[in-house]
Amino acid sequence: MRWVDRGPEPAGVAEYAGRFTQGRIDYFRSRVGQRPTDFLWVVFRPALASRTDSICWYCEQGCDTHVESGGRAPTVDHFRPLSCFPELAYEWSNWVFSCRRCNDNKANKWPDLGYVDPCADDVSDRPDRYFDYDVLTGDVEPRSELSPTAKRRAWDTIDDLGLNKLDVKIHRMECIQEVMNGLISRPISEREAFIESNTGRAVEHAGAIGMVAKQLRQARRL
Ligand SMILES: [Zn+2]
Repeated sequence: MRWVDRGPEPAGVAEYAGRFTQGRIDYFRSRVGQRPTDFLWVVFRPALASRTDSICWYCEQGCDTHVESGGRAPTVDHFRPLSCFPELAYEWSNWVFSCRRCNDNKANKWPDLGYVDPCADDVSDRPDRYFDYDVLTGDVEPRSELSPTAKRRAWDTIDDLGLNKLDVKIHRMECIQEVMNGLISRPISEREAFIESNTGRAVEHAGAIGMVAKQLRQARRL
């Protein structure tokens, strides 16, 4: 996972919030009325997708924008789930661009400590403060210096989103390997710029690539 700047709220969100939020609250809080069928946050999916060129903000894999179903289909996830936080149904700050699979994995779960927020405002709460990458196993894991509660939040995020599922892990390792091969073939003077170009917002697994680069820098092997 990498930090994403969600950007400013587009025009139109507040209007939908005014029209539909109360219906969501009535249904989920008071069980009044029919289950709402407005899903108008999809209107804003392209605006969210544009922040990372359609790369999922959770698993960092590219979504297939030509399909509307299947694991790689793009969707809008409610970071705090609708069933627990209906008042946030049309809240721009609660929307995360996500692949269908991450959205399904997360479903209506909301652990006691919540999840690591890919769009956290506070610098000390951003994904790079929570996660590290194990070069031997290929796993994403909590940083060793985290407090026990922060570690639990990191593990809940990894486990519930399936960030260490085998296919995600293999894809992540392939992307990292490709960048490492590119690094080796370049003179030292060009390596930082090469890393920079491979950790941008539109690069798959940029978060994990950044973690490995940081480890290399610390070991003075870059
Ligand atoms: Zn995903």
